[in-house]
Amino acid sequence: MEQNRGIIFNIQHFSIHDGPGIRTTVFLKGCPLRCPWCSNPESQRANPEKMLDAVTKKETITGEEKTVTEIIDDVLKDVDFYEESGGGLTLSGGEIFAQFEFAKAILKAAKEVGLHTAIETTAFVEHEKFVDLIQYVDFIYTDLKHYNTLKHKKVILSIILCKHSSKVAEC
Ligand code: SF4
Repeated sequence: MEQNRGIIFNIQHFSIHDGPGIRTTVFLKGCPLRCPWCSNPESQRANPEKMLDAVTKKETITGEEKTVTEIIDDVLKDVDFYEESGGGLTLSGGEIFAQFEFAKAILKAAKEVGLHTAIETTAFVEHEKFVDLIQYVDFIYTDLKHYNTLKHKKVILSIILCKHSSKVAEC
């Protein structure tokens, strides 16, 4: 079932490292993994959450609900840049497959208005969903967390299995 709204935590215009050309990167919230080196830890939880700015000591909310239409309208503001540079829309996260139906709806809508689409993903998802979504994708970034399967599971997945434990380091 197509999902027309979901949770994002940022829309970054004029991205030049997230695929070809000048792009707008939409960051979806939620990730099933817990990489110790995560550069966007505020993306991991699925729902909006309160954050404390370490410098200003002010509370902010990370994450907000958006519709597919709101996102596409925002992305289309830079269409002239995409046409000049060969850019477009990039979906990132978090892990985009954590909001599979929402991610698919955004990409499908982007293709309907002629945008070039890219995704950044761990590919941590069932094969069928991966194949289903990439029919709307022109360019894929995926990352190998660790080349050794056992170490990969120990570092990334043991933290998931033990996320409710107060003794994560012992898992
Ligand atoms: S997969 Fe990406 S977003 Fe998720 S925990 Fe790892 S680095 Fe962070």
